[in-house]
Amino acid sequence: MKLNQLTIKQAGQMLAKKEITSVDLTKACLKRIKEVDGKIKACLTVCEKEALAEAKKADEKIKNDETGELLGIPYLAKDNIMTRGVKTTAASKILENYIAPYDATIIKRLKQAGAVLLGKTNLDEFAHGASTENSAYGTTHNPWDLSRVPGGSSGGSGAAVAADMCLFALGTDTGGSIRCPASFCGITGLKPTYGRSSRFGLIAMTSSTDVPGPLTKTVEDAAIVLSVIAGVDKNDATTVDKIPLTHFAKGGSLKGLTIGLPKEYFIEGTDKGVTEAMEKAIEDFKKLGAKFKQVSLPHTKYGVPVYYIITPSEISSNLARFDGIKYGLSIQDDDRAKADLMSIYTKSRGKGFGPEAKRRIMLGTYALSAGYFEAYYLQAQKVRTKIKQEMDKVLETVDCLLTPTEPHAAFKIGEQSNDPLKMYLEDIFVTGASLAGLPAISIPCGFDKNLPVGLQLIGKRFDEATLFRVGSSYEKATEWHLKKAEI
Ligand code: GLN
Repeated sequence: MKLNQLTIKQAGQMLAKKEITSVDLTKACLKRIKEVDGKIKACLTVCEKEALAEAKKADEKIKNDETGELLGIPYLAKDNIMTRGVKTTAASKILENYIAPYDATIIKRLKQAGAVLLGKTNLDEFAHGASTENSAYGTTHNPWDLSRVPGGSSGGSGAAVAADMCLFALGTDTGGSIRCPASFCGITGLKPTYGRSSRFGLIAMTSSTDVPGPLTKTVEDAAIVLSVIAGVDKNDATTVDKIPLTHFAKGGSLKGLTIGLPKEYFIEGTDKGVTEAMEKAIEDFKKLGAKFKQVSLPHTKYGVPVYYIITPSEISSNLARFDGIKYGLSIQDDDRAKADLMSIYTKSRGKGFGPEAKRRIMLGTYALSAGYFEAYYLQAQKVRTKIKQEMDKVLETVDCLLTPTEPHAAFKIGEQSNDPLKMYLEDIFVTGASLAGLPAISIPCGFDKNLPVGLQLIGKRFDEATLFRVGSSYEKATEWHLKKAEI
């Protein structure tokens, strides 16, 4: 096995035994990026020099017998996460030359843990999308089939992990953006509970549902990364310091555990290959001792409409800061002196935002405007509360829920980029957990015509531990997570 193909767990053990160095690992990842990223286009920035320097520092620490699960482990971060001194564009023209002046809390924590930042990954502009086709810097390609999308919006992170360009990657999930690429790329993606991992230093999309989390090769690795990035942060008042991430079970029996199957998530319109993979997974879980219970979440059908009112509303407010004055001028400084204020404004706002960001700003401004606020935004918030209450209530009767992550495997590039509504429907199974703030994980569970399929486990608030337990037991009993795209 090549070093870049290792899991965090495997690499960590080899580093601790001093069988390999962090510099070896980092070089192997950088080499892989050079080999395949011309075709995949997962990375927007690669910081080779800085990464090697960080790796050297990690090796010094290891030499001095310092330990840590992420010490010396190379990773990539989605480009809407602030990385001090490194370009952070959110895949937007408006931030083309923006160098982050500080680290996001999660980046800071990874730095303190000795993880090595290799670079930044592509996404849909400002994380608006499910395919990376909305990036201002070109679409990322799915390593399993280069003519297909990797999912989105953390598509660069998903593709990079699937193609072994790094040992793990960071993404953000507002309405599925970690889980969708994990499903399409055949890897694990965890959306933590809202408030589990700090949003400080994310380029905000929808502040009430944004959550950063890991994309990894195994469930166990997701647990490792979460344990480092999670926790209360004085810079994000929505983080809480409760329910620590303990008792992570490493595989084994699921006796005594009940998994809910919400009937609204097993519906017509889902591809046959996905349904078959779900049925097979349910059988595998039964063999592990889990019991299943049919449950109902009748408000599920309002998830996408509610999400696409609340999200654009928050986006229209969050993107207002890119007013062409304080942020995001993509023109050079000396031009800036010549341009009058109005032309700067027009250039950065008019030409800076791509069509999807503009669409959402317009939708959100409309939904929040006087006379329409009550009919749209307020109503959507009320239904959102219903969705949350309903999910919490059902989760009192089971340990977690199992659903497909996506209704189908990765689609062709261009296939639905001209149909925003169709693209929004990609989120049919992922918006519920986002609106309710619940933890959810996507795990590979089979293939449909040689393309990966993912299953989703949704847990109780702050109960990522059960997702890890259930997910890792399944993973130990199956081999889907070991399959590699040939590229
Ligand atoms: N598909 C969702 C959207 O376009 C995903 C967004 C996200 O999670 N960042 O809004």
